[in-house]
Amino acid sequence: LNGDIYLKALNVFYGPVHAVKGVELKIEEGKITTILGANGAGKSSTLKAIAGGVRYSGSITVGNVPIDVMPVHRRVANGIVLCPEGRGIFYTMTVKENLLAGAYTRKRAKLELAFEIFPVLKERINQIAGTLSGGEQQMLAIARALMAEPRYLLLDEPSLGLAPVVIEKIAEVIREINKRGITVVLVEQNTSLALSLAHKAYILENGRVAIEGKPEELMRSDVVRQKYLGGV
Ligand code: ATP
Repeated sequence: LNGDIYLKALNVFYGPVHAVKGVELKIEEGKITTILGANGAGKSSTLKAIAGGVRYSGSITVGNVPIDVMPVHRRVANGIVLCPEGRGIFYTMTVKENLLAGAYTRKRAKLELAFEIFPVLKERINQIAGTLSGGEQQMLAIARALMAEPRYLLLDEPSLGLAPVVIEKIAEVIREINKRGITVVLVEQNTSLALSLAHKAYILENGRVAIEGKPEELMRSDVVRQKYLGGV
């Protein structure tokens, strides 16, 4: 699959909880799109819908192809790969075993790209993942997602819980991944980080798209500055 991803009238319910309420958004191929918003705004649910990890109504198309009936593993095989919040790495397995697990949909595991982007992981190839630093674990999570050879990489709060210098490193990595032609969808609570990386931004409030635009427009907006950038 290739082309832009469109979400139309996307709704996600968890029992009685209406988490995503008619979200419409466009993810442009080759670009970085960020989805922002406070806790519980529906960001992760939107991302999981794209990955196929949650039931939804509405439609998601890639190029012109509807993917709604595709299960997760087929979306992965088609290049749509989620790097989940909280990393989801296998803590008792080694770095190498984690990376190989990420390549389960591919016939041949190619470790080169992961090591090119994350040389630190090559040095730690036989280390148990649970003993890596928080930043290294996040890098491993992203590297593992890359092992599936995504065309679309969905990142759920990669900066969560990391120190500013480590966040800067993650930001560089996201830019590098995008430069290599991978479309990135970045869910973040770190608004300034996300706006510094993205080509297009959507802010969700209470399950709906409240604000959308180019990062430079959003950074000029008083509402965005006051509500999402700490009034700077
Ligand atoms: P966060 O940054 O805290 O992850 P978010 O913007 O990603 O927030 P979601 O995780 O998509 O928001 O959650 C949206 C709403 O759906 C919240 O009210 C949340 O409590 C609810 N929700 C999410 N997952 C579930 C679930 N598995 N069961 C029930 N309710 C859920």
